[in-house]
Amino acid sequence: LLLLPKDIFLVEFKPVVKIGLKENINSNKVKMCYGSKYFFNKSSCEDISSNIKVTGEVDINNVGNYVLVYTIDYKGISKTLNQTIIVYDNESPVIDFLGQDGVNKCIKGNIYEPPFKATDTQDGDLTNKVKRKIDGDYYVYSVSDSSGNKTVARRFIINNDVVPPRIELTGGSEIYLVLNEEYVEPGFVVSDNCDQDINEKVIISGTVNSQQEGTYFITYEVTDASNNYTSVVRKVIVGKQKQVIENKVVYLTFDDGPSIYTEKILDVLKKYDIKATFFVTAQFPKYLPVLNRIHNEGHSIGLHSYSHVFKKIYANENNFFEDIDKLNEVVKEHTGTYSKILRFAGGGSNRVSKFNPGIMTRLAKRVTEKGYIYFDWNVDSQDTSLTDSNKIADTVIKQLKGKQLFYIVLQHDNKIANVKSLEKIIEFGLENGYVFKPLSTNSPVVHHRINN
Ligand SMILES: [Zn+2]
Repeated sequence: LLLLPKDIFLVEFKPVVKIGLKENINSNKVKMCYGSKYFFNKSSCEDISSNIKVTGEVDINNVGNYVLVYTIDYKGISKTLNQTIIVYDNESPVIDFLGQDGVNKCIKGNIYEPPFKATDTQDGDLTNKVKRKIDGDYYVYSVSDSSGNKTVARRFIINNDVVPPRIELTGGSEIYLVLNEEYVEPGFVVSDNCDQDINEKVIISGTVNSQQEGTYFITYEVTDASNNYTSVVRKVIVGKQKQVIENKVVYLTFDDGPSIYTEKILDVLKKYDIKATFFVTAQFPKYLPVLNRIHNEGHSIGLHSYSHVFKKIYANENNFFEDIDKLNEVVKEHTGTYSKILRFAGGGSNRVSKFNPGIMTRLAKRVTEKGYIYFDWNVDSQDTSLTDSNKIADTVIKQLKGKQLFYIVLQHDNKIANVKSLEKIIEFGLENGYVFKPLSTNSPVVHHRINN
């Protein structure tokens, strides 16, 4: 926001500048007037705008000092007046934190800091000028713009590292070999928020006998310095002939709605005549009636959580089922039918429930006993951290090019970027022979490794 200082008595710059003469025209004192449309001296009120010529320009979009020159011809007397207009910036820069909440203090003392961005209306990107320091339990960020407006923001320091390493399998998690075709390890990419030397820590186990038909599993495991463990498995299928992969299935899933965007998602799905799955909540009660449209248009409704408040639903098993039952009643009310499919808030592998040790292990067992089928995902759109719809679409498409026969794609209902990414994802799928289906109790299941 650009303002003129209060001590500059200027009503308009252009096209007409209102300047008045106070008291006597013969006096040397020429003053700027303000506040009224016409200017006058005490005895004779007269608009003298047309007697004034102004030269010089003020760019109110750029900070700076601008000089305006007023030439006044009045009753045969000519006077010149200079005025400096100071355009200044009183808007502070904005610091945006991206990625996870908080900064990790790693076991080796180094800090893992998720990305951030600083921007200013006048100066543009100021990210490189941000100063950081530790202040007690906080990591403090400060930045000033060229006009001296300062912004301070802070992130909580988490004194342990709870982020597990990530292993991405080069070549995908399923590989097909023709009998006697040698298995050559395609490799992996491993990364960790804290550990730099994580690469050497990956342990690969399992063998493939390419002389014998069958399904073989290669396991990749790694534990970081703070004992966060990750494992992924590659399936190697040895067959008489190369499997023809056709009609790979994509299950689009949308968590956390219905929301303000649900109808937009439904419109896109309708346009392409595609069925998807909505793992719903009651977080936005106003939109619950949309459940009816979801159901009527042939999509699946799964249970996610009524409240989506981790502290509450994972406090004990009773709370969890109370929450799910309550949600299922809402689903029944709007669709006429109960749901039998479920996705845990935070996913089956969540660590947010760690405050109640073992709860996910118990819940995974109990939901199954109660006849629910629960689904995690094998394609993460990363839409909780990405805000650019093209990047979300590209992230999904990249994973759809893997070697699995089916893909359960995690997206969130309540993110506008997702709505926009959807067309691109669907078009890629349709052009490449994928089939889109809604999840049901008969669908193939993806379960993450349970971490609690
Ligand atoms: Zn969720």
